[in-house]
Amino acid sequence: MSSASMPSTLSFWERESFSRLDIAIVGGGIVGMSVAASVIERWPDRQVTIIERSSIPYGASTRNAGFACFGSLTEVAADIQSMGSDNARELLFDRWLGLKITRDRLKQYDIGYNDFGGYEIIDESLSHTIGQIDAINELVEDFIPDYLQILPKDIKLGLRLNSEQQLVSMAQEGQVDTGKLLKSMYTYCSSIGVEFLCGLNVNKIESKEAGASLIVDDAQRGTIEMSANQVVLCTNAFTQLLAPEEQIDPGRGQVLITKPINGLKFRGNLHLDEGFYYLRNVGNRILFGGGRNLDRIGETKTSFDLNDSIQTRLDGMLEGVLELNETPQIDMRWSGIMAFGKTKMPIVRLREDGLLIATKMSGMGIALAGQIGEQLADLMDDKNL
Ligand SMILES: Cc1cc2nc3c(=O)[nH]c(=O)nc-3n(C[C@H](O)[C@H](O)[C@H](O)COP(=O)(O)OP(=O)(O)OC[C@H]3O[C@@H](n4cnc5c(N)ncnc54)[C@H](O)[C@@H]3O)c2cc1C
Repeated sequence: MSSASMPSTLSFWERESFSRLDIAIVGGGIVGMSVAASVIERWPDRQVTIIERSSIPYGASTRNAGFACFGSLTEVAADIQSMGSDNARELLFDRWLGLKITRDRLKQYDIGYNDFGGYEIIDESLSHTIGQIDAINELVEDFIPDYLQILPKDIKLGLRLNSEQQLVSMAQEGQVDTGKLLKSMYTYCSSIGVEFLCGLNVNKIESKEAGASLIVDDAQRGTIEMSANQVVLCTNAFTQLLAPEEQIDPGRGQVLITKPINGLKFRGNLHLDEGFYYLRNVGNRILFGGGRNLDRIGETKTSFDLNDSIQTRLDGMLEGVLELNETPQIDMRWSGIMAFGKTKMPIVRLREDGLLIATKMSGMGIALAGQIGEQLADLMDDKNL
């Protein structure tokens, strides 16, 4: 066949209406959708298209624990030590504001929000952090008044606590139904005109004099070339595949969920062992996750499988933490992939090659996403993009 009679991968109509984009957002997780929402809310005439490699987002946004939280006592204490009070406060504020933006945006939708509260068990080895409660409360007083409180020893909440442990509560902490949240974001974004192209893996992004071209894999058609005036990378843990120079390490998080437990008393979120473990109720079930610290190097990966020794540890800890009348049965186990780096601060920037980037959520993207979307839109505004 002569090249003149080779079929084009795209029809003329497909090329004109589907492959020439204004703003292309790569990655359809909570951050990609929040960026899309912020951009369209500000500039309703812009055309925003989310390109997502999977039918359902396939990273962290649909696979997490659904804590609507800002930071536990030991986590904030460690952040103050590693990055100073100002940065620790900024991160807490962005998480708080991000959640507020997302909840306000989706107020017509059921995101399964419960204000059951957040708690942290402080072991004897971390009891020195109790002395930092007043300073931390002062740091965040203007947006979360009376943030941290030590609970009286006779309050157990259905937890097994020994005489050395103390329970600290975090004000305004709640939980979302992760699935309902993401579905609501999808419905909201669609309603304001965001377009979704799912099942397309972006393989390469090349800067052009005006805009960029995207080389994309489609399971049915093979390779397609698309173009966009602006490209925003919201690929979190998978960013290095497209932008290898970004300093991002993937971090796998593993969770399990039990079957419903008769007589389960605990309601809320629980942070344990400096945040390395986390537990919440989902109705009468318990979702329990963490343990990345048991094999930090092994868990620095983007594959969605499980590590048996971490899962065994989670199984073992479950009954030790909760007062239960029966041995819990495990219903499901899964993993999701987060993104970390040298600092906990997210990356929101315009690169020299013209690529916009909103990534590296350090395991707190559900909280941060609303604010990251606004920051990215501010950046586009500043740079007249
Ligand atoms: C087990 C676990 C528990 C967590 N618990 C909480 C919590 O309680 N509270 C909280 O705030 N945060 C939590 N997180 C973190 C939170 O889920 C993430 O920070 C957040 O989801 C990151 O969102 P994102 O949109 O940046 O990334 P992702 O959700 O990972 O989205 C990135 C998307 O990009 C797509 N993609 C990647 N590469 C390409 C490509 N080349 N072409 C096209 N598409 C591509 C992926 O398929 C994916 O859908 C948890 C995470 C895990 C794993």
